[in-house]
Amino acid sequence: MEVAIVDAGLALAAGLHSRGIQAHVFEKSPNLIVDTATATSLGPNASRALDGISVGLSAAIKSVASITKTTKVTFCGSRNGDETFVTRYDGVRDDEFYVVKWRSARSILASRVPALYIHCSHALLDYCLEDQSVALRFQCGGEVAIFRAKFVVGADGINSAVRRAMYPADRPRDLHLINWNALVHNPGRFSVHDRDQIASIRKGPSVSFLVDAGEDYTLWVLRVEDRSTAKGSSDGFCDESGKARVLQEIDKLLGSSPAWEPLKVAVEATEAGQIFQRRIKDRIPLESWSDLDHRVVLMGDAAHAMHWGPGQGARTAFEDAHQLCELLSPALAAGSPEDLKRAVIRYEELRIPRMTRIQNFAAETTSIADFMPAWVTELTPGDLWGRWKEFQQWAASYPLNITGDPDSTYFK
Ligand SMILES: Cc1cc2nc3c(=O)[nH]c(=O)nc-3n(C[C@H](O)[C@H](O)[C@H](O)COP(=O)(O)OP(=O)(O)OC[C@H]3O[C@@H](n4cnc5c(N)ncnc54)[C@H](O)[C@@H]3O)c2cc1C
Repeated sequence: MEVAIVDAGLALAAGLHSRGIQAHVFEKSPNLIVDTATATSLGPNASRALDGISVGLSAAIKSVASITKTTKVTFCGSRNGDETFVTRYDGVRDDEFYVVKWRSARSILASRVPALYIHCSHALLDYCLEDQSVALRFQCGGEVAIFRAKFVVGADGINSAVRRAMYPADRPRDLHLINWNALVHNPGRFSVHDRDQIASIRKGPSVSFLVDAGEDYTLWVLRVEDRSTAKGSSDGFCDESGKARVLQEIDKLLGSSPAWEPLKVAVEATEAGQIFQRRIKDRIPLESWSDLDHRVVLMGDAAHAMHWGPGQGARTAFEDAHQLCELLSPALAAGSPEDLKRAVIRYEELRIPRMTRIQNFAAETTSIADFMPAWVTELTPGDLWGRWKEFQQWAASYPLNITGDPDSTYFK
């Protein structure tokens, strides 16, 4: 094989195929579309990356998404009581932010990769570098299979096996947060937020989101601090006791403000088995995303898993895929190891400084002091909101100022 992608680099695979490069995708699950009841908010940086990957890709995804023209955030329990901010972003068109069910986005990406090149039920165990190729060892049911590729991309998420083989001691970091989310089919059953708006409530580390996810689905998310279940808990869909825990957490929050009431309405309308529970983890920024001779490289959550707060995980995975498509296709056509090496070095120069900033900002949006600079813990809601907006405008401006800082009042 010329290129092997250890999963989820579906966007990268789609882009490479559209440039005539036959990239193979290996996914550990029996199906490419694994349901975690999640929807993803995307913005101008994701759209520019998607269209750079393959013309028309952002329009295809937008066609099943819901447009979100404004974001409304209520900070509860600040010195001035509840403080609410509503924003749209300067210089951004009304239709440039949208929310899409993650499984719908993945289906669209998968439809652009020929089925022959997708290999499900292949869980990477590890890899080793050989003279001319990289040998990949996969668990396929009861068997172990070995494939060889000239070039490998590790796009296998936060628990990446590729990253583990590259950095054996490195592990995901637990952020002391537990998260529940659900996609509720809601063709007019209940109304819990304004149309075209992301509605968020915050009180310290507790955060909720309510938004239309397209295709008649409402997404709700609740995240709270939790230091008790880091060990032994596994991610997955809830039973009735899980739903009862979510309602208990909301009742505690309702004690401080009625602003949480719409979330309660949405949760009560959700069946327990539709609620996905997970612990939130991230990865500490790395200085290099490739192995020593640049034939194996990381992207997406495998390279830079972050807290989902600023909604940049999937957006920046698409940016990675875009840059890799542009850099790899001429290098693979030239065919020399030196060209590939130069492409990977350039990819790292473009991506690592930007992603280090984004990962660090995402960590501070946990609102947990362990993961924030001390001075950020002192900011007022107004200053936090200014900082958030400045960060989002800079992130959205991709690929402009790709390695630079925001032009900053708040973002220092
Ligand atoms: C609650 C929540 C809300 C979010 N909201 C947003 C948002 O609004 N906007 C945004 O941009 N991002 C958001 N994100 C982040 C976003 O979902 C992730 O950053 C994105 O899914 C990363 O994509 P990925 O392809 O790198 O990894 P993943 O989506 O995790 O995919 C990894 C894939 O690799 C496969 N795999 C794992 N191990 C192996 C192996 N050993 N062998 C083969 N295959 C393997 C897995 O089965 C999986 O299919 C959110 C995340 C969460 C949890």
